[in-house]
Amino acid sequence: MQNEVNSSPENAIVLLQQELTSTEHSSETLTMLKIVLAQAYLDIGEFSKAQLASQQALDESLIHNNDEITAEVHFSLAALAFNQGNYLASLESYRLAHASFSKVGNQRMSAHSLIAIASSYTYLGELEQSLIENEKALKIMTALDDTYGKSQVYNVIGATYYYLANYKKAIEYYHYALNEAKKIGENDEQALIQANISEAYAQIDDLEKAIVHIKHALTLSQESERVQSQLFNLIVLGKLEAKQGEFNKAKQHFSLAKSIATDIQAEDSVIEVLLELAKISHNDTQKLTNIFSALEKAKRLDLSAFIRDAYQQLYQVYLKQENYKDAYHYFAQYHATNSDLLQQDNQKSLARLNKSLTLLKARNEIEQLKQNELISQAKNAERVNVQRLTIFIVVVITIIIITSYRRFILKRQASLLTEQVHQRTIHILKLAEMGKEITAAIEINKVASIVFEQLEQLFGSSCFRIAVLDNDSNSLHFTRCDSDGVSAYTLPLTLEGNSDNSHSVINSVLTGKESFNLLANKVEVEAILPLVLKDNIIGCIGVEKRLDNNSNDQFFSEYDLSILRSIASYVSVAVMNAMTLSNVKSVAYTDFLTQLPNRRALTESYYSLTPLNDRSGQSLCIAIADIDHFKAFNELHGHDGGDYVLREFSALLKSSIRQQDVVARWGGEEFVFILPNTDIHGAVTLLNSIREKLVAKQFTFEDKSLSITATFGVSQYHAELTLEEILNQADQALYQGKLSGRNTVKYFEDISML
Ligand code: GH3
Ligand code: MG
Ligand code: MG
Repeated sequence: MQNEVNSSPENAIVLLQQELTSTEHSSETLTMLKIVLAQAYLDIGEFSKAQLASQQALDESLIHNNDEITAEVHFSLAALAFNQGNYLASLESYRLAHASFSKVGNQRMSAHSLIAIASSYTYLGELEQSLIENEKALKIMTALDDTYGKSQVYNVIGATYYYLANYKKAIEYYHYALNEAKKIGENDEQALIQANISEAYAQIDDLEKAIVHIKHALTLSQESERVQSQLFNLIVLGKLEAKQGEFNKAKQHFSLAKSIATDIQAEDSVIEVLLELAKISHNDTQKLTNIFSALEKAKRLDLSAFIRDAYQQLYQVYLKQENYKDAYHYFAQYHATNSDLLQQDNQKSLARLNKSLTLLKARNEIEQLKQNELISQAKNAERVNVQRLTIFIVVVITIIIITSYRRFILKRQASLLTEQVHQRTIHILKLAEMGKEITAAIEINKVASIVFEQLEQLFGSSCFRIAVLDNDSNSLHFTRCDSDGVSAYTLPLTLEGNSDNSHSVINSVLTGKESFNLLANKVEVEAILPLVLKDNIIGCIGVEKRLDNNSNDQFFSEYDLSILRSIASYVSVAVMNAMTLSNVKSVAYTDFLTQLPNRRALTESYYSLTPLNDRSGQSLCIAIADIDHFKAFNELHGHDGGDYVLREFSALLKSSIRQQDVVARWGGEEFVFILPNTDIHGAVTLLNSIREKLVAKQFTFEDKSLSITATFGVSQYHAELTLEEILNQADQALYQGKLSGRNTVKYFEDISML
């Protein structure tokens, strides 16, 4: 609500500037006049002029060393900071002002300083502290029997309860304020309080009472011919009536508001009313006319919030008409404007915070310097009678406080909603980003750590698990991620003998249902959500979260779960990708007939194992095995018999080597070994034992008992040799073995010694 006071700030500025040129005033009076001038500039939003006047007053006050003047300067600087949104700085200066006013016994201003301190706290979100300061101010006002002051403090306390969402208490205090205001017959004050009461009733959905009070406010503003207030109250009344379904009355009041707004050229109110009229209109043509008219004006004045609201209404209208093309068009516009607004809002609050902090630091330094200077100055300045000016200041400050609060109430409501939307938008953007990252990741480990990092931020999660179903082995492969990193383990898919925790996981995998699991220590809870892909359950995810004391009735909110469900669907896709990839990988690296690693796999193993070997300095051997007279064997027993023996031989090789060894089918009936940490003699011993096992082995194929032998060649690895060169040496040894009658093991050095 706007306040039009007879002594308008504009008038005050003209008067003050005349006074300042007068030669009749003492230097202290001139300083005081500058303070008042600063206040007046503040009230009309001329911050730089206010700053200049305050700065001059501050400089002069250092010379005067007069507590009253010092107090006024602090108050003036505080009001400046307050109006610029630097609430930390305003708090600091109001405190100094309060101390100085108390020191010189100016009770009234010390109470006003307390109210202002409380306001700064309110803006900083310290509402409880704000109540404490206001109660102190109330005590002083009561002692002074200051009806007007009491009315204001009650009103402010009411407003504070309002922000604390304690609407009943707010209404109670607004009524106290109203009683005081009635005593002094202050129309404007009463109108403001009535509007506040109405707003509080609207919050508790008592629309009837809200309407009664806004009507009182309206009558009062009509009596005192406050056009701005009338307009404001009419719009509120219309909105309340619309909410109650009284569309005809609402339309009537909005129309009246529209004509007033047009008269006084309050363009933003015209836009607001057009949008409200559109909302309650049942005629689509009329609706669209109003919205487009509002949109055009809002665009001209660059009022983004109204532009957004207009787009929102437009897409809703077109959606209802099933005109999806236009609906989509305006939805996109709405979305873009809304995102811009949210971003601007965010940037503004960040900037404001930064500014407050910097200012506070600078202010502290200045204070320190000032104190030092003051002490060194002589204290012989004459005192001046500032009574008249002080009263004037009270009036100006009252205007500032009232308008600030009014603005704050409206801003606060909007920002609460915006904050919520903003928070959710951030979550959605984060989810989308995470989705992109997750689905691009090709390893489950990577997926787990990406998700965990996000969940840690979102819920303070301590652990995240992915369980993937392995139908072949009837087990679950777990990938677990916590602050220590990623680990993996496998559990059988049987319900018996598992801990509670795994029980829920298995249950979720078998039934495809979400479940919750209080963890052993009872301070954490795990949500388990199935991973579903094309109607198949492929596993589940588990998210652990620390229990919040305030919400022990609900482990995860519906909102949390909706986020987790999105994560689950991203993870499903990622798991599927990873499984497909690992299938492709294993096909490309495995020999089809024998299921041993193939030539490509062995080559990769060689290049990953040998650098380790270079560092450890251990010996490493490469060996080749070749089945003897296999051509003849094939001819005798058929190709199928040959294949069968190749598979059996491969199984024998695989079961005969150590875990760190590698054996691969190099091609045909040739096999290559990599034997780390093995010298020539160790390799010969191992290969001889395999050779002997083979001699003893009887293969049964199509009821025939078959046997084969093989010849082995070994060479020792040297860092300076290529794989090809070492294989060539092993092959030379093998060749010697074949020459010397087969079924034997030879090593390369043998040959060089021959
Ligand atoms: P040597 O003792 O000198 O090694 O004689 P060999 O007959 O084993 O040597 P050679 O290299 O002449 O013949 C290898 C034979 O292995 C040729 C081919 O018939 C057989 N062979 C290669 N790959 C396969 C396979 O996949 N399945 C079957 N059944 N036989 C194969
Ligand atoms: Mg061969
Ligand atoms: Mg052979």
